Amino acid sequence: ASGYSLLRDPHHNKGLAFNEKERDSYYLRGLLPPTVISQELQVKKMMCSIRQYQVPLQKYMAMMDLQLGAIMFPPIIELNERLFYKLLTDNVEELLPVVYTPTVGEACQKYGSIFRRPQGLFISLKEKGKIHEVLRNWPQRDIQVIVVTDGERILGLGDLGCQGMGIPIGKLSLYTALGGVRPSACLPVTIDVGTNNEQLLNDEFYIGLRRRRATGQACNLIEYAELMHEFMSAVKQNYGEKVLIQFEDFANHNAFDLLAKYGTTHLVFNDDIQGTASVVLAGLVAALKVVGGTLADHRFLFLGAGEAGTGIAELIALEISKQTNMPLEEARKRISLVDSKGLIVKSRIDSLQHFKKPWAHDHEPIKKLVDAVNGIKPTVLIGTSGVGRTFTKEVVEAMAALNEKPIIFSLSNPTSQSECTAEEAYTWSQGRAIFASGSPFDPVEYKGRVFVPGQANNAYIFPGLGLGLIMSGAIRVHDDMLLAASEALAAQVTHENFDKGLIYPPFRNIRKISAHIAASVAAKAYELGLATRQPQPKDLVKYAEHCMYNPAYQSYR
Ligand code: NAP
Ligand code: MN
Repeated sequence: ASGYSLLRDPHHNKGLAFNEKERDSYYLRGLLPPTVISQELQVKKMMCSIRQYQVPLQKYMAMMDLQLGAIMFPPIIELNERLFYKLLTDNVEELLPVVYTPTVGEACQKYGSIFRRPQGLFISLKEKGKIHEVLRNWPQRDIQVIVVTDGERILGLGDLGCQGMGIPIGKLSLYTALGGVRPSACLPVTIDVGTNNEQLLNDEFYIGLRRRRATGQACNLIEYAELMHEFMSAVKQNYGEKVLIQFEDFANHNAFDLLAKYGTTHLVFNDDIQGTASVVLAGLVAALKVVGGTLADHRFLFLGAGEAGTGIAELIALEISKQTNMPLEEARKRISLVDSKGLIVKSRIDSLQHFKKPWAHDHEPIKKLVDAVNGIKPTVLIGTSGVGRTFTKEVVEAMAALNEKPIIFSLSNPTSQSECTAEEAYTWSQGRAIFASGSPFDPVEYKGRVFVPGQANNAYIFPGLGLGLIMSGAIRVHDDMLLAASEALAAQVTHENFDKGLIYPPFRNIRKISAHIAASVAAKAYELGLATRQPQPKDLVKYAEHCMYNPAYQSYR
């Protein structure tokens, strides 16, 4: 072993933090300047150099270089995996928007030109029939979480084909930093079946298959389904039944089907549907502590009836039916959804996609949102349409006229697509709205009071949920685990948070929050008989903390 190669191995390099003994034992003398510094000082130094970049994408690239070890022109970034996770864990509020939304979106859009070193596993139609062997090319054998995308609906940015790889990579960084899953147990995968993005197809730097997507037409659909099926089987064969497969950023025409198809044979989870549902339900549960009443006392109206909208609606209905023993059908009647064609009603049922059918209630057709608000009189209004500026002054004022404390969630991303801004929600409701959004908004001052809007960020839920599944050896995801995760998150909101108008706890404490979510999810897995790790640990919160990967350096002997 040479010291020179140790410094170039991101899994073991500590840079200037190698102590005198290690420098002797590992042939490092002379290869490093004489100073020995702590990991804390390295974090401080890295933060200084990252803050010097004005452009978010440059910050992103600096982070990736640290994680991966692509050497950059000055300032030289040390390649060091533990430092990467330490940096992210200790500065989560500042760096989350860099390694995840919104910057990761821009990174995906420009992936072809910033691509320096392959990361993650690319499985394209060219690998059909060979996926089992492809998985064996990955250096790690002991995989616990896979995040997989087919790139068709990346964030709110649409079809980015193979360049969607940035998303599984970003999500898995959060699994490690926020949920404590070991980095070597994480596998990012992109399934490349082509892209319908003309701009990419014509881009000479595009890294993916140069063909149209194998989805949509009946014959191509089979090609798609076969590739996915081969992938799902190969994953189980290689890593067993306890590997968590998270579907990410699939278009809704595939997302619901894949979840239904593999939910009974694999440990699968769709963050866009289920993770969103769980984090939004947590916000609602917390909001009701301010507004009063139970979920069953409220009426819900959604703008947008896709993965997010129907996913959230279904989890709310499930929770209502659990709390009240009311049949699910009955609970669903408290929830209405509007899509691009207007209110979803019975008379439209024949032309509705199957995931919308449960929401087709007896009601006269309504086209405009404001008319739906006045007709249905919701206490909760949730935007999940991906279209900005749709909660107009008229809509918010209608909500404020109907309710003492209207609950308004503008979940569409990025910020430009938010249904309304935090400032609009507070001013148009005269400071009465309980507001949360998908993209972050700064605190708002209105008539001498400061309101802090909540951010319904999926990163509150999925890392803890994943850890809970892994640590209990769960073999299936059950809806009750999503409910348990919501309750656990809502329970982390303190009185001080509520006083500021917050319905989500500060991200600073995310590792502790994740441990509590993991413990609740694991407890549910044991209760449902879906846990394989026996015997059940006595104190699940302690056990969750004990299982978490710690990015502090280990000493080498
Ligand atoms: P999706 O599956 O494509 O669904 C979009 C829905 O919005 C569809 O039902 C669509 O109607 C409807 N819609 C589109 N334009 C509309 C309009 N002008 N008026 C009314 N409805 C309209 O997308 P998704 O995955 O649900 O995501 C939707 C949005 O939620 C995105 O902006 C995403 O960023 C955001 N989101 C936020 C969070 C979070 O805050 N944590 C999590 C997930 C997603 P049709 O069905 O008629 O086409
Ligand atoms: Mn997503």
